[in-house]
Amino acid sequence: MSDTAQLRIYNTLTRSKEVFRPIDPRNVRLYVCGPTVYDYAHIGNARPAIVFDVLYRLLRRLYGADHVTYVRNITDVDDKINARALRDFPDLPLNEAIRKVTEPTFDQYQRDVAALGCLPPTFQPRATEFVQPRADGKTDMISLIQSLIGSGHAYEAKGEILFDINSMKDYGELSKRPLDEQQAGARIAVEAHKKNPGDFVLWKESSPDEPGWDSPWGRGRPGWHIECSAMSAAYLGEVFDIHGGGLDLIFPHHENEIAQSRCAHGTATMANYWMHNGFLQVEGRKMSKSEGNFVTIHELLETEKFGGRKWPGEVLRLAMLMTHYREPIDFSVRRLEEAEALIAKWRRKVDGAPEGELDGVLVEALSDDLDLSSYFRLMNGAGMSASSLAAAGKFVGIDLSALETDLDVASFVERRLAFIREKNWAEADRIRDQLLAEGIQLKDGKDPATGERVTTWEVTR
Ligand code: AMP
Ligand code: ZN
Repeated sequence: MSDTAQLRIYNTLTRSKEVFRPIDPRNVRLYVCGPTVYDYAHIGNARPAIVFDVLYRLLRRLYGADHVTYVRNITDVDDKINARALRDFPDLPLNEAIRKVTEPTFDQYQRDVAALGCLPPTFQPRATEFVQPRADGKTDMISLIQSLIGSGHAYEAKGEILFDINSMKDYGELSKRPLDEQQAGARIAVEAHKKNPGDFVLWKESSPDEPGWDSPWGRGRPGWHIECSAMSAAYLGEVFDIHGGGLDLIFPHHENEIAQSRCAHGTATMANYWMHNGFLQVEGRKMSKSEGNFVTIHELLETEKFGGRKWPGEVLRLAMLMTHYREPIDFSVRRLEEAEALIAKWRRKVDGAPEGELDGVLVEALSDDLDLSSYFRLMNGAGMSASSLAAAGKFVGIDLSALETDLDVASFVERRLAFIREKNWAEADRIRDQLLAEGIQLKDGKDPATGERVTTWEVTR
């Protein structure tokens, strides 16, 4: 390790903070479940991308940039995608047709997360490329399923290959769900072919008008969980260091990934550390497509849908990082304004100074389970020089070298006037006070001609 900082991370497997010990410090291996590419990604989907990007940057710092492998998959096996591929490109081989459907969404996702300051992962494998056995011999889904059947962990019933959760004595180790809870709600007639209601699909038959891949069990398509077991093994091996994703993936997705991988490879673990980010919420509810309470990354960056204006990528990124990654975030205009004001303050202090050395105490703060609150507190400290501040921003993906401030006073003034018109004095005063704290004094007056309220401002320091 190049720094003295000792990395500690909260491990969902043990529900405790642990010292991170890589299997091989010359190749630290991280896998994060990526997006399903059928539509624009929303800002909630951006949270794992940003959180694990910070972890990736920290690991590169601690172990060396060439000694970290970061895999974030692309889920392009999905019934909605498949159906569209078959409808729109019936004459193409299935993988090619799917590519045509998912390519624009995939490209958009790359642009979105790049605008949010995320480094590209080392590998971004697509699920469709790992369904059938591969020429390069990398792990594929069909071979994994075959070995699960061969070792008695999976069985065929009613056109499905199912994982038998009773064949694994410690199934449920990650989510720690009581078995009766796993059974509740699953006792419905269509599930009667399962040995246990908790058994889950590895493969299912496709009817002639459904898309499918050839397999030893006829034409069909894989279940959702098996793709991550295949792609993680393909690039990171049977056992690797860190597996990440959002809280919602703990059960069933990650639980089932563990079951498949451990039983197929005969290993005691799949990954040694499991990390989960909390939800990004709107008024207390998880942002999601199905709730309809979402705003896409693209809309935030390029349109005026949220708060009546566009938001720069670094503002969205900081707004995400101001809360500890395991805590929920309530996504609001106010939060974005706070992030914007903070960046403007830092930029004024940096004032074009060249980037200096990254202070070791910052690396130490971050090494405590990505404690960014302490990190930002240190950045705000009086002792932080302009060039160290520039380095500190850059390390977490926030460029502070821009000379002019990004604080768009005119838009703040306009919004404050709108609040005044609505007689929302509290919000109007908040904006005034926030600007004052940034060294910008607002002055209210009247237009002599029209008698309308006009607001001017001056920089007080
Ligand atoms: P999906 O495309 O829904 O499979 O989600 C991709 C990633 O985003 C997964 O790691 C999810 O756990 C995560 N995710 C989805 N919605 C949210 C949210 N509202 N807040 C935080 N993470 C989320
Ligand atoms: Zn996954």
